[in-house]
Amino acid sequence: MQKGHIGVTTENIFPIIKKYLYSDHEIFLRELVSNAVDASQKLKTLSSVGEFKGELGDLTVQVKLDKKTITISDRGVGMTAEEIDKYLNQVAFSGATEFLEKYKTDAKAIIGHFGLGFYSSFMVSKKVEVITKSFKEDAQAVKWVCDGSPEYTLEEVEKAERGTDIVLHIDDENKQFLEKAEIDKLLKKYCRFLPVEIAFGKDTEWKDGKEVELDTDKIINVTKPLWTRTPSELKDEDYASFYRELYPMADEPLFHIHLNVDYPFNLTGVLYFPKLKNNVEVQKNKIQLYCNQVYVTDSVEGIVPEFLTLLHGVIDSPDIPLNVSRSYLQSDSNVKKISKYITKKVADRLEEIFKKDRKTFEEKWDDLKIFIEYGMLTEEKFYDRATKFSLLKNTEGKCFTLDEYKDIIKGNQTDKDKQLVYLYTTDMLAQHSFIEAAKSKGYDVLAMEGQLDTHLLNHLEQKFEKSRFVRVDSDVVEKLIPQENHVDLKLTPAQKEDLTSIFSSQIPQMEKTNFIVSFEAMGENETPVMITQQEFMRRMKEMSAMQGGGMMFYGEMPDSYNLVVNGNHPLVQRIVTDEEASVGEKVSTLRGKVESLNGRKAELDKAKEGKKEEEVTQAEKDEMADVDKKIEALNEKMKEELSTFASGNKLVSQLIDLALLSNNMLKGEALTKFVKRSIDLI
Ligand code: ADP
Repeated sequence: MQKGHIGVTTENIFPIIKKYLYSDHEIFLRELVSNAVDASQKLKTLSSVGEFKGELGDLTVQVKLDKKTITISDRGVGMTAEEIDKYLNQVAFSGATEFLEKYKTDAKAIIGHFGLGFYSSFMVSKKVEVITKSFKEDAQAVKWVCDGSPEYTLEEVEKAERGTDIVLHIDDENKQFLEKAEIDKLLKKYCRFLPVEIAFGKDTEWKDGKEVELDTDKIINVTKPLWTRTPSELKDEDYASFYRELYPMADEPLFHIHLNVDYPFNLTGVLYFPKLKNNVEVQKNKIQLYCNQVYVTDSVEGIVPEFLTLLHGVIDSPDIPLNVSRSYLQSDSNVKKISKYITKKVADRLEEIFKKDRKTFEEKWDDLKIFIEYGMLTEEKFYDRATKFSLLKNTEGKCFTLDEYKDIIKGNQTDKDKQLVYLYTTDMLAQHSFIEAAKSKGYDVLAMEGQLDTHLLNHLEQKFEKSRFVRVDSDVVEKLIPQENHVDLKLTPAQKEDLTSIFSSQIPQMEKTNFIVSFEAMGENETPVMITQQEFMRRMKEMSAMQGGGMMFYGEMPDSYNLVVNGNHPLVQRIVTDEEASVGEKVSTLRGKVESLNGRKAELDKAKEGKKEEEVTQAEKDEMADVDKKIEALNEKMKEELSTFASGNKLVSQLIDLALLSNNMLKGEALTKFVKRSIDLI
């Protein structure tokens, strides 16, 4: 028997492996099973080139569980004593101490850096035995044993079969790996698509209400997963069933994309556009990353562009550096190329589907658009491609490409400054009356109800020339797309002033909501009173709700609405007539007094002009203050008169409430009052 010291040049690696690498203990199984698979694949290759002339026989890798051990056996190339010495004893560590210190919490980095695949077995074992017999003619089987100290033993043994058995004596802290369910879980996670069959346990069958074991070995993996096969020999159903296999709980996907490239990097995979149940659903099912069919991770950030991390499926590439930090990954040139390639491929495929089968594409648009809009917002390259197939949908459910839509609205929706005005709604129900008003003028209204729609339109506005997006309820229909011709307002300044007080006094109190009364000259057949919200402020508030941060300022502001009174409407004119008949005299007397006081105030101001503060006499100051006070009191009095009039005039409240109602803003007590008043009026 040979005894020796493992060639660790600096400190002993084992305590470090054991102590620090606790978080990723489970990967030992992946490492050992993929070594076994590699050894089997190597033998197949040797056989195909004639270097191995014997029978390959059954190459199934066996994973077996005992009370205290896990054994992984293969019938691959095996190792001679020299090879054991070369591959297992001479672990070369350059600058090991330093590196370990830096990465002691990152098992993947250490294992990757040192090619420690096999040594990861010491993370869970107190003793490891390797019994192996090389495929080479007349090879002598050997057994290598190591108990986790740098000492090992190597001796000749009898072994009937070619190949390698690795026996792990699991230590007390890692007993969970002796549970069948745990090993099942890990094999399913890491080994389910390995290219050589892996057997663990026995097949079972339900018999008389009981699950009974059969004689046959249970194979836990699929050796030729879908993404490794040629697209031309696959049908849609194959992609659908592979998807179900990957994500049993998810809905049918919308589309799939088969990735297949071997130059300048190697990458295969299948990506799916999933049907997200609703726009905000967090991704639970992620893209899985494989390296030669060995599962690596499901965190692919940095490898696929951000907007595509919402996709599902599999990416397999031996060219992605796996055991490095995220920041390194993002600067890696291969990874950059891969990310670009995937973006391009996704855009190509979407364009292809759009061109070939526009009807299906349109049907799926509502589910699809979150991905496309996200991409357009975050990837310039993708935006350029997506302008060919990205759709705008109007309130009638018709879809248009960006160019098509421009042509549709060009004639009717260009304003006096030659700007193209895109009208949109964010809520077809709540903004219904505005949509109808716009339609009756022959305008088209886009339905922008999706989560990213408002962001997208901000983006499009920057991209498009001489164009702007205007929400359909942001102004009265006449002013949505301002034209040259305009109607005169049939109200005098005094009447406007009175109506402002009349309407302001009757608007129901609402929390964090302000109303400003304004007037528009519209047709007699247009709405008498309506409520609009400033486009700018509303967009700012929406963004603040989504982003927070610097936008918080807008979020704190109250909602500000315009109560727009159509001064030319007969009902508004009637209010003016009623007001003049009932409080007209009182109000005009008061106004007369205010006017003469204002005259005096102007004189006083004039006298003050050019004087320094200290040159103004006390008497002048006193009179000024007195005049201001009187004006204020008279204005108050005037408001009071008008408010009393307004509260007795059912028409005022009725018009306000109707406007609130068509904006879905009439609630609670105000709504009850409205109903009662309506009945009275009938
Ligand atoms: P890596 O697999 O990254 O080379 P490992 O530490 O896992 O690193 O293995 C080192 C070497 O030991 C392998 O390259 C291989 O030559 C040999 N080896 C490991 N496991 C087996 C096995 N089951 N059969 C044959 N050779 C093996």
